[in-house]
Amino acid sequence: MKKFCLFLSLLITLMLYSCSKEEPPVPGDNDIVYVCSGNSASTYHTQRDCSSLKSCKQDVLEVTRRKARENERIICMNCKKKDDENKLKDTVTKN
Ligand SMILES: [Zn+2]
Repeated sequence: MKKFCLFLSLLITLMLYSCSKEEPPVPGDNDIVYVCSGNSASTYHTQRDCSSLKSCKQDVLEVTRRKARENERIICMNCKKKDDENKLKDTVTKN
């Protein structure tokens, strides 16, 4: 019986743990990103002067990164590259 109780409490702990586990917050979720309000666009941009964004014929909207992801937009490759370069620079200057 003691064993069973132990098992049960373990199970409950596990259940509680998995229930309380929320989606981990993504850093930069509240960052402002830029999206082209046009139809076919499926990307968002972190750089306002991104060359892809310049070719946007519609309005460029400012939204949060979270919002952009909710609209199933993915980060533009150009911007991602620049972001990575900036991060790298940050790391270098910090060291
Ligand atoms: Zn871009």
